[in-house]
Amino acid sequence: MTSSNHWSQDFFDVISVGDGVSLIQEKHISPDMRCNIWHIRGRDQDLLVDSGMGVVPLKPTVAQLAGREVTAISSHCHFDHRGGAHEFNCHLAHKADEAVYAEPTGYNTLADDFVTAEVFTAVPYDGFDWKTYAVKPAPLTGYLDEGDVLDLGDRVFHVFHLPGHAPGAISLYDPKTQILFSGDVIYDGGLIDFAYHSDTEVYEHSLRRLRELPVSVVHGGHNPSFGQDRLTEVIDEFLAGGQRLEQP
Ligand SMILES: [Zn+2]
Repeated sequence: MTSSNHWSQDFFDVISVGDGVSLIQEKHISPDMRCNIWHIRGRDQDLLVDSGMGVVPLKPTVAQLAGREVTAISSHCHFDHRGGAHEFNCHLAHKADEAVYAEPTGYNTLADDFVTAEVFTAVPYDGFDWKTYAVKPAPLTGYLDEGDVLDLGDRVFHVFHLPGHAPGAISLYDPKTQILFSGDVIYDGGLIDFAYHSDTEVYEHSLRRLRELPVSVVHGGHNPSFGQDRLTEVIDEFLAGGQRLEQP
């Protein structure tokens, strides 16, 4: 491992953001589409929150960063968040999305709606054809649900089940540091409540819950991280009918 806080492999950038958290980015996926892949260092256990599109193997980069096995968690079942999950021995997520993890299709992962030639800003490897992009099955090895606790030894994350964007959407929260990993429940950008399994009313309920939460930083599923004020702002805009992504 390099000592710099920003290093690069062929397809991935790794950026240390403090508090034992690193952001892994798929640098050849367009910035408006790529998800944030988070590595969380714990004393006894490391977590990986989301795994990108799965275009090239993610595990070598994670192995270099973590130096040990990680527990892979998917914040929800969409193609851009769980494409690399099949590479890991332990894959946890919410049961409500279980069938999509086990039997992904272009339809049920939303790949059919969003994956176009423009998503790839460079050819990831010789012979790559974006039209053959497909998500590999990654059956869950265990479940995460509301009230569950992930104890890493020196830090503890609480699992919130926050459906609406996807039925099995979860967020992870550390009450001590007030760091929130929110997946696609909230990020600083246009949110999606129009997917085939989205539910706007349920989504609003989830966001009202998050609005009450004290946060130091929100590490979302896309775009740069943000704090309490922006959390409130984005939620209020959504509840007022705005803050949506334009439908593709
Ligand atoms: Zn999503």
